[in-house]
Amino acid sequence: MNSVPILKLDGISKSFLSNGRTIHALNGVTLELARGETLGIIGESGSGKSTLGRVAVGLETPTQGKLHIEGDPLDDLPAALRREKLRQCQMIFQDPYSSLNPQLRIARQIGEGLYARGLLDWRDINERVADLLERVGLKREHAERYPHEFSGGQRQRIAIARAVAPEPAIVVADEPVSALDVSIQAQILDLLIDLKKGGTLSYLFISHDMAVVARLCDRIAVMYRGRIVESGPTAAIIENAQHPYTRNLLDAVPRIGRRRTGRKPALVQLPDHGRQDFLVTVSPGHSVLQAAESGNNVNLPGANALP
Ligand code: ADP
Ligand code: MG
Repeated sequence: MNSVPILKLDGISKSFLSNGRTIHALNGVTLELARGETLGIIGESGSGKSTLGRVAVGLETPTQGKLHIEGDPLDDLPAALRREKLRQCQMIFQDPYSSLNPQLRIARQIGEGLYARGLLDWRDINERVADLLERVGLKREHAERYPHEFSGGQRQRIAIARAVAPEPAIVVADEPVSALDVSIQAQILDLLIDLKKGGTLSYLFISHDMAVVARLCDRIAVMYRGRIVESGPTAAIIENAQHPYTRNLLDAVPRIGRRRTGRKPALVQLPDHGRQDFLVTVSPGHSVLQAAESGNNVNLPGANALP
């Protein structure tokens, strides 16, 4: 068995300068994605999930830290090899309306990834595009159409076909159903599950919806203000969440949030950027971020409660 993670983020930070202010979108994020695994990234809006996804596919360069693909640190590779490695990482975006080029037939948009992979004959490409369209539940004839001729759900299927066309090892799905009608969300999730069956594809599945993540993912990493505050196997997170923020997320989902005994922990402000925090291992593979001066208590005392 190959135990080298297909993707590793090692101490990744990403800051943006916005109106003279520095925004720490990611603050020392470390995570590993195993081959064939689905890792859920969950957190509220603004917690840094999309930035993490964009870093993972090379759309964003980290301010600090290293991205490893199949054990190789990307920064240390020559440009051609880096591009080759990044082709292993494809992304599905939240909004299927803005992620497709309105001016190009979908055959062309899906075909580009095949061309990039070295398939040069247009007949081969067209054949593969037609196969891919069928695989995502569309028709071969759809290849010649333009994005505006499709519904939101169909467009997301096209975006998924485009993402898997170059046969990536990793697909980052950034809230892939959040912009879709509730009635078709389940179909798209089922499609993502289907595409992975029997293969070694890995997903980084980004969502703000704990119920969806709990259904799809082998492991869950909880993001809060640019950090992973807790991560572990899905069952461990659901049944034995330690961080107050994780518990808050779970309590918002009646179906999976257990009735918890005792006082509900207050959601607290995480300590500022740069302070020394450490990860406490709760059980194998399950760890929680704890502030350095908080002793054994994961409620991070001393910080201010959020409004
Ligand atoms: P999420 O996907 O969890 O909602 P994001 O990764 O989109 O979070 O954003 C994290 C933080 O970084 C937010 O405060 C956001 O405004 C900021 N941010 C993200 N991208 C940029 C950018 N290109 N320029 C400036 N700020 C950004
Ligand atoms: Mg986002």
